[in-house]
Amino acid sequence: MAMNRIQFQAGLSLPAFLAQFGTDEQCADALEAFRWPQGFSCPGCGTANYYLLTAGKHKNFQCKCCRLQTSLIAGTLFQSTHLALSIWFLAIYLISQAKTG
Ligand SMILES: [Zn+2]
Repeated sequence: MAMNRIQFQAGLSLPAFLAQFGTDEQCADALEAFRWPQGFSCPGCGTANYYLLTAGKHKNFQCKCCRLQTSLIAGTLFQSTHLALSIWFLAIYLISQAKTG
Protein backbone atom coordinates (compact mmCIF):
# COMPACT_ATOMS: atom_id res chain seq x y z
CA MET A 1 0.00 0.00 0.00
CA ALA A 2 1.36 3.41 -0.93
CA MET A 3 2.24 5.73 1.91
CA ASN A 4 0.12 8.84 2.19
CA ARG A 5 2.83 11.53 2.17
CA ILE A 6 0.52 14.22 3.48
CA GLN A 7 -0.39 12.16 6.53
CA PHE A 8 3.26 11.73 7.49
CA GLN A 9 4.59 15.19 6.76
CA ALA A 10 6.11 17.11 9.63
CA GLY A 11 3.63 19.34 11.41
CA LEU A 12 4.10 22.86 12.67
CA SER A 13 3.79 23.34 16.41
CA LEU A 14 1.59 26.12 17.73
CA PRO A 15 4.54 28.04 19.24
CA ALA A 16 6.42 27.76 15.93
CA PHE A 17 3.33 28.93 14.05
CA LEU A 18 2.86 31.89 16.40
CA ALA A 19 6.51 32.83 16.08
CA GLN A 20 6.14 32.85 12.29
CA PHE A 21 2.59 34.25 11.90
CA GLY A 22 1.68 35.69 15.30
CA THR A 23 1.23 39.32 14.30
CA ASP A 24 -0.83 41.02 11.62
CA GLU A 25 2.34 42.43 10.08
CA GLN A 26 3.88 38.97 9.76
CA CYS A 27 0.69 37.63 8.18
CA ALA A 28 0.51 40.57 5.77
CA ASP A 29 4.15 40.06 4.77
CA ALA A 30 3.52 36.34 4.25
CA LEU A 31 0.38 36.99 2.19
CA GLU A 32 2.24 39.53 0.07
CA ALA A 33 5.08 37.04 -0.50
CA PHE A 34 2.60 34.28 -1.43
CA ARG A 35 0.62 36.56 -3.71
CA TRP A 36 3.46 38.35 -5.44
CA PRO A 37 6.64 36.24 -5.03
CA GLN A 38 8.53 38.49 -7.47
CA GLY A 39 7.15 41.66 -5.88
CA PHE A 40 3.92 43.51 -6.62
CA SER A 41 2.69 43.51 -10.18
CA CYS A 42 -0.42 45.35 -11.28
CA PRO A 43 -3.37 43.02 -11.92
CA GLY A 44 -4.48 45.40 -14.69
CA CYS A 45 -1.35 45.94 -16.74
CA GLY A 46 1.37 43.85 -15.08
CA THR A 47 3.65 46.77 -14.29
CA ALA A 48 5.78 46.42 -11.18
CA ASN A 49 5.97 50.14 -10.41
CA TYR A 50 3.52 51.27 -7.76
CA TYR A 51 2.76 53.76 -5.05
CA LEU A 52 2.11 52.39 -1.60
CA LEU A 53 -1.00 54.02 -0.15
CA THR A 54 -1.21 54.16 3.60
CA ALA A 55 -4.95 54.69 3.99
CA GLY A 56 -6.93 51.70 5.21
CA LYS A 57 -6.29 48.71 7.36
CA HIS A 58 -4.29 46.76 4.79
CA LYS A 59 -1.61 47.72 2.31
CA ASN A 60 -3.00 49.43 -0.76
CA PHE A 61 -1.11 49.66 -4.01
CA GLN A 62 -1.64 52.08 -6.86
CA CYS A 63 -0.10 51.29 -10.22
CA LYS A 64 2.12 54.09 -11.53
CA CYS A 65 1.18 53.17 -15.09
CA CYS A 66 -2.61 52.70 -15.18
CA ARG A 67 -3.40 54.07 -11.68
CA LEU A 68 -5.37 50.96 -10.75
CA GLN A 69 -5.68 50.64 -7.01
CA THR A 70 -5.72 47.27 -5.30
CA SER A 71 -5.22 46.10 -1.78
CA LEU A 72 -3.27 43.21 -0.39
CA ILE A 73 -6.44 41.25 0.33
CA ALA A 74 -8.45 42.19 -2.80
CA GLY A 75 -9.32 39.12 -4.83
CA THR A 76 -8.24 36.74 -2.08
CA LEU A 77 -10.02 34.63 0.47
CA PHE A 78 -9.67 37.53 2.90
CA GLN A 79 -11.42 40.16 0.77
CA SER A 80 -14.06 42.18 2.67
CA THR A 81 -13.13 40.66 5.99
CA HIS A 82 -13.27 42.70 9.17
CA LEU A 83 -11.14 40.22 11.09
CA ALA A 84 -7.40 40.61 11.43
CA LEU A 85 -5.23 38.50 9.17
CA SER A 86 -3.64 36.88 12.23
CA ILE A 87 -7.07 35.54 13.25
CA TRP A 88 -7.61 34.07 9.78
CA PHE A 89 -4.14 32.56 9.70
CA LEU A 90 -4.70 31.00 13.12
CA ALA A 91 -8.05 29.56 12.01
CA ILE A 92 -6.46 28.10 8.87
CA TYR A 93 -3.64 26.66 10.97
CA LEU A 94 -6.01 25.05 13.48
CA ILE A 95 -8.20 23.52 10.75
CA SER A 96 -5.29 22.29 8.66
CA GLN A 97 -3.38 20.80 11.61
CA ALA A 98 -6.34 18.91 13.07
CA LYS A 99 -6.49 15.25 12.06
CA THR A 100 -10.20 15.65 11.40
CA GLY A 101 -9.76 18.99 9.60
ZN1 LIG B 1 -1.41 48.95 -13.93
